[in-house]
Amino acid sequence: MDGKKINTEKSQGLLEKSAKVIPGGVNSPVRAFKSVGGIPRFIKRGGGAYVYDADDNRYLDFCCSWGPLILGHADPDVVAAVQKQVETGMTFGASTELEFELADFIVGHVDPVEKIRFVSSGTEAVMSAIRTARGYTGRDLILKFDGCYHGHSDHLLVKAGSGLATFGQPSSAGVPEAITSQTAVLPLDDEDALEKFFNEHGDKLAAAIIEGIPANNGLLVQRHDFIRLLRALTEKHGALLIFDEVITGFRLGLEGAAAYYGIYPDLVTYGKIIGGGMPVGGFGGRSDIMDVLSPNGPVYQAGTLSGNPVAMAAGLATLKKLADGRIYAELERKNRLFVSELTEKLKDYTFNVAGVASIYWLVFQRDLPRKAENIDPDGISHYNRVHEKILNSGIYLPPSGYEVCFISVAHTEEMLKDAAEIMAGAFRQEAHKWQ
Ligand SMILES: *Cc1c(COP(=O)(O)O)cnc(C)c1O
Repeated sequence: MDGKKINTEKSQGLLEKSAKVIPGGVNSPVRAFKSVGGIPRFIKRGGGAYVYDADDNRYLDFCCSWGPLILGHADPDVVAAVQKQVETGMTFGASTELEFELADFIVGHVDPVEKIRFVSSGTEAVMSAIRTARGYTGRDLILKFDGCYHGHSDHLLVKAGSGLATFGQPSSAGVPEAITSQTAVLPLDDEDALEKFFNEHGDKLAAAIIEGIPANNGLLVQRHDFIRLLRALTEKHGALLIFDEVITGFRLGLEGAAAYYGIYPDLVTYGKIIGGGMPVGGFGGRSDIMDVLSPNGPVYQAGTLSGNPVAMAAGLATLKKLADGRIYAELERKNRLFVSELTEKLKDYTFNVAGVASIYWLVFQRDLPRKAENIDPDGISHYNRVHEKILNSGIYLPPSGYEVCFISVAHTEEMLKDAAEIMAGAFRQEAHKWQ
């Protein structure tokens, strides 16, 4: 495997051409492979668990478009639903029965969601949920957690500083401090910090937002007690609790984080899986909260392509296949098998794998972190150094050590066993022996 070279001429050519007309040649920064090096692959097609690049190399795909493709690439039922819709029109700017059907499916399966509205991305879903929470409570302040990603809207591009709660440090140029000054950031997994924050600021808080299971900066599995306290404190202080389930919605199971923790949020945001691979977001929750939205209430929110029929058709076809729950049990079994196989092969090394449902995260440190500051940057460098070697062996891992991996229905046990063998080989050359 060492030094294996594969042909990436076409991808390289496409990158050079694209970079002249698209900043960095990409429409989302991590696609540029800056952390891991190597040529970012231009993908020509996908089928099942595989993607094929412009040079016709095949890769077993553990990125799965960052989460939406729980059924794998080009699932025949999803493709058929999309084709059927496309033939009769792609967008009308008026309501369709498909919007009702997807909304009804989600409301019927997720208890905390009584009403839902669809938008076109996860970012838009979160942005709209925050505005809804502010409109409902009449308060401005929001609370997020260090290590959680909620899309790229201005008020959520905030970095954590040192100390218990920090306010208003933009994590991107172009974001005014005046906007982020209304966003507080706390560490995950820290009950004392929560208590202290709510004592001081709880009565000014519109909403606290947290990922179902934080999965955008490693996989930071939270203790139920921490989430339980967050629920209790938001309730006590009249603030709303938002579960951002853009990744975890219909990934952890049909009822997502609410069922996982046995805790109901007031609002939930969706994206990724509910669009079956089409651009979609959604936000929903209690009826009395959702009814502050225009035209019922004073909170403005809109979208030319919101509830787009092609996206609704793809999402509905996907969710219907998940409805009986059997797929989740099967995915979880396969993921557990893969995770234990890999951990066993590397048990003598400073390496671990975090796994939940059909998500796993490769981490080059011994203990699994629960908060962002406990992620070892050296471990991330190990991942980044070995990424290209694994890619050249035909396995497509996300191009950053902070990103999690997904398995789909199309990933077979055999594929997973072979992948574990190849990955373990590459990691062994990179990881330190555990002393
Ligand atoms: C992906 C993601 C988003 C942003 O969704 P986009 O569709 O990329 O805008 C928001 N929150 C979470 C938890 C996500 O994983």
